[in-house]
Amino acid sequence: MTAATLYIIATPIGNLEDITYRAVRILGEVDLIAAEDTRHSLKLLNHFGISKPLTSYFDHNQQIKGERILNALRQGKSVALISDAGTPCISDPGYQLVRDAVAEGISVVPVPGACAAVAALSASGLPTDNFTFAGFPPSRQGKRRTFLSGMNSLPGTLVLYEAPHRLLETLNDIREVLGERQVIVARELSKMFEEFIHGSASEVFSKVSQGVVRGEVVILIAPGEAAQQESEPLEKVLQRLMTSGTLSIKDIAKQASVISGVSRSEAYAEALKLKTDAD
Ligand code: SAM
Repeated sequence: MTAATLYIIATPIGNLEDITYRAVRILGEVDLIAAEDTRHSLKLLNHFGISKPLTSYFDHNQQIKGERILNALRQGKSVALISDAGTPCISDPGYQLVRDAVAEGISVVPVPGACAAVAALSASGLPTDNFTFAGFPPSRQGKRRTFLSGMNSLPGTLVLYEAPHRLLETLNDIREVLGERQVIVARELSKMFEEFIHGSASEVFSKVSQGVVRGEVVILIAPGEAAQQESEPLEKVLQRLMTSGTLSIKDIAKQASVISGVSRSEAYAEALKLKTDAD
């Protein structure tokens, strides 16, 4: 246990077995535990026989509580931050505290574990090499549609959190704004009624609309056509940029590497070759 350290500790998202040995050990060793909801976290701590001073840290008291927690750290105390479920700071309070602690040079240590977005993605069957986690979409339809259209050409899988009572309207916006992509609703992960609902955007919408969706959900959306379009070949991009006549070879290579997805050195070598051939 290191003094003056802020530990960011992941806790289970449903199944109490999904906590690490290290998380349990550190929670039992710190001087103070800051929790999103102390009553909720007390159940978890009691389950593991942990009895430690507990303080609340949630969205609406972040400023005052953040300062008190920082003070404890400045005095050399060790503090664990936990949220109601999963990884703190991921659509949960904590970011500001971590930012301020980092700015002061206080040691911040993550204790990794459950995160609904990563759990859902890992078992979804959608591409995992590139994904965007965009948290909760806005609750108002107009803003939600603008938010979704901004995601239209992202290259990877899109991962969203959503409240169950808004799931249907969000699925409707997904199919109307993003089109017929493959969509997965991952429900009640690690709990008794865990379920993955697969299909096209319309199929998933129709499956979900047949009943009342209860429990927590993650929405995953496959990359769309806009993102899958082949990037322009390097030679074509270089020729186009060279005809402008205003850019240096270095700048041409820089832009071409972004457009066609090759390394800057490859773009530079190819640009030099084209220039020599042309001279
Ligand atoms: N920090 C948490 C994490 O690491 O996943 C997320 C907290 S956020 C306030 C809560 C949202 O996460 C829920 O509305 C839901 O979208 C998702 N979520 C949390 N637990 C889940 C579960 N067991 N199954 C599906 N989604 C879950």
